[in-house]
Amino acid sequence: MKPSIEKLQKFFNLESERGFDNKAVMGGLINILDSWESSAREDDISEDIIQLVRGRLQNYSNLSESSRKDILKGMWRRVENIYGDPKKTNTLPETMVKKVPINRKKRTETFVSKTPVERKKTEQKKSSPPSKKAPAKAPPKPKPPVKKVYVKKERPKPEGPPAAFNAPVTVLDGVGPKNAEKLQKLGIFSLGDMLYHYPRRYNDFSQLKTINRLEYGEEITVIGVVKGTNVRPIRGGKFKMAEVVITDGTGALRITFFNQPYITNTIRVGESLAVSGKVDRYLGKLVMTNPEWEMIDRENLHTNRITPVYPLTAAVTQKWLRRKMNKVVNYWALRVREPLSKAILDSSKLMDLPEAFLQIHFPESLVELEAAKHRLAFDEIFYLQLGVLQQKKKWAERIASVYEVSDEWIAEQTGKLPFELTNAQKKTLADLRKDLANGTPMNRLLQGDVGSGKTIIAALGVGIIANSNAQSAILAPTSVLAEQHYQSMTKTLSENSDMLKPEQIRLMIGATPESEKKEIRAELENGNIKLIIGTHALLQDPVNFQNLQFAVIDEQHRFGVEQRAALRAKGENPHLLVMTATPIPRSLSLTVFGDLDISVMDELPPGRQEIGTYILYPKERERAYGLVKKEVDAGGQAFIIYPLVEESDKSESKAAVESHAKLQNEIFPNMKIGLLHGRMKATEKEEVMGKFRDKELDVLVSTSVIEVGIDIPNASVMIIEGANRFGLAQLHQFRGRVGRGDKKSFCLLIPDKPDDIENERLKAMTESNDGFVLAEKDLTQRGPGEFLGTRQSGFGHLKLASITDVKLIENARKEAATLLESDPEMELPENQLMAEILNFRWKQIKGDIS
Ligand code: ADP
Ligand code: MG
Repeated sequence: MKPSIEKLQKFFNLESERGFDNKAVMGGLINILDSWESSAREDDISEDIIQLVRGRLQNYSNLSESSRKDILKGMWRRVENIYGDPKKTNTLPETMVKKVPINRKKRTETFVSKTPVERKKTEQKKSSPPSKKAPAKAPPKPKPPVKKVYVKKERPKPEGPPAAFNAPVTVLDGVGPKNAEKLQKLGIFSLGDMLYHYPRRYNDFSQLKTINRLEYGEEITVIGVVKGTNVRPIRGGKFKMAEVVITDGTGALRITFFNQPYITNTIRVGESLAVSGKVDRYLGKLVMTNPEWEMIDRENLHTNRITPVYPLTAAVTQKWLRRKMNKVVNYWALRVREPLSKAILDSSKLMDLPEAFLQIHFPESLVELEAAKHRLAFDEIFYLQLGVLQQKKKWAERIASVYEVSDEWIAEQTGKLPFELTNAQKKTLADLRKDLANGTPMNRLLQGDVGSGKTIIAALGVGIIANSNAQSAILAPTSVLAEQHYQSMTKTLSENSDMLKPEQIRLMIGATPESEKKEIRAELENGNIKLIIGTHALLQDPVNFQNLQFAVIDEQHRFGVEQRAALRAKGENPHLLVMTATPIPRSLSLTVFGDLDISVMDELPPGRQEIGTYILYPKERERAYGLVKKEVDAGGQAFIIYPLVEESDKSESKAAVESHAKLQNEIFPNMKIGLLHGRMKATEKEEVMGKFRDKELDVLVSTSVIEVGIDIPNASVMIIEGANRFGLAQLHQFRGRVGRGDKKSFCLLIPDKPDDIENERLKAMTESNDGFVLAEKDLTQRGPGEFLGTRQSGFGHLKLASITDVKLIENARKEAATLLESDPEMELPENQLMAEILNFRWKQIKGDIS
């Protein structure tokens, strides 16, 4: 196995052994990232895997222990698939599956990669009943830490002018043009940048131990004087091992570094070295292997305390930056003015800003460090909330046209529908009517689980607008979906009622011939078309409306912020309705979507039955096929979904193409099987979808392009291959493609391997049909980036706060709302500083939110 993969395995194992308490590494697993990434790059590990590890570990600390377990296991699966040792399978320890009591003595035996034979032995041992005689000594429980809370310190106010965040770094003592250039490489241009350049982790030198008191297996920092260094070839000269011996007067410790021969250029005999890592054993002696290390200066500030470790780039050394930072922080932090009012500081129990800067860089204790982090994390969310709430207010101040219809009109139109609206639909329709009638632009997010009937609500909105002769647009993420909307809109608004004439409703997608597009453009401009339904083509094209008043975006998570703005810009303060079937957890609806009003449709139309969901082992695939056959024989239809095999559209399509051929020729020779994948032309896709809808096809083999929106009430079975590769929210979306009629429907999940961990995660699907529950789970399992999809995964400005921390978010939002209530424009002198910071920060934040 490559060293970086081995390293990863080691960390994961250790973490697993500890019960996923995120203490395998000092300061949390996140701290392995930087060093791991560089070794992974040395090993030529694929970018996908590097990003995967990064993404998952970044959010690791916020997860529950069980989610952590899921994440590490899932991640390891993927890593092992590609980089695992082919001879030795399943190198993760049993602890990943069952929690076994920690037995430190046995660690090395349990956690080195095992050959299958050895594995079997241990398993047998494990399954035999525990011997009565075995000492029932429980592992010593760590003493519960004395709970300390941060107590505010009084510090004398320093003299001199207050810190100006935007002052160039050259105002700093000892920073001339040359040093400024160095700092620029780290993205530090101003005093503020400097203060906000937080350490990426800390070395805790406050709890040093002497070498003679080291214990096997502990994670610790040791300081000693380098007695000798030595580099020698290993494994037949393929690799090099550097050895360093340090002593501290109580004993000697041997430290080995694999494949880092250059290390002895920096680690010099006679100087002091600090190493942080796990104490290991080799040939009966305690050693450390590949620890984090740093040469230290005994007199220096960074001994005997918690020392910051900063993110660096070439040309800037840890020591240099730390020294500069120490100077800057000591002088300037206390001169930073506190922007928050005393009321907020008190009610949210926050450390003040000067103190927070001092403590985040040079913490006096872990308690102060935590308090500092909390304060700075609060700021991140607080300004985000101020911005979002102000944005919301700005929209509310705009003037929009008023569209009102009578209750009789509504009753007449809804009376023509083939069904009665659900209560949730009625409520949402009322929200819509209120928005359209109140003179300010609607800015509403409609979230409703798959199949809750959002389309009809949009249609009625269009009807209200058309009733006053104004125009509407519906934007859909795929041409298949746009086409479907076109059909259902035509049915609802024209065939079954007379809200619009057929020619007043048009479809514009990529495949629309240029001549037709031209004609559509003309008709939109002269106002003949009242409703245009389209894909991105609608935005790319120089389409102008006579009077666009209602813009609907379906499956909004497929669109970026810019696209929403682009559609909006085609009218003058049009009413905007965005719809999503991906339930948005509360933390996100308060932030990413914090400027929108929200309607929730949490009710499915009557008669729907729970979709029977089962996890099948790959071997049981025949059973799944049997069910497909049975359903098709009874007049139903089936979907079979294939996942992304590699992260390129190409191979995804390949898997589907190959499977399609096999299914058609070998498994279901008598059925009509269609194929849908992302690399087909839009017209081809539409043709296939059309055939499936018209029941000319029995089974539709598809890649994940089918995910959104498609409505085929006759489909009653869905098989999802490689189910382990999808997030829960996405699986729920897929599943929502069946069970849309009144037939009992089934969803069969087939993971790649009969693998306990993934099946454990997928089990949530069998236990819940509630999109909200699954979305919450998904968000914690995968983090906001993957959850929201690449389009909205920004959040680069959140360095300390977690977007999943609902408590922090709610609190910050409450404080922001209170503030804006008393000073809507933030004009009061005491709020000036906050307004300035908001102004500065909002520019960075805006790109990330809706
Ligand atoms: P989604 O919210 O997932 O977009 P759709 O709008 O596609 O759901 O609606 C799903 C299906 O439910 C459609 O076939 C639609 O005609 C039907 N439907 C919508 N509202 C009702 C209702 N109140 N009663 C019965 N069926 C309904
Ligand atoms: Mg829909």
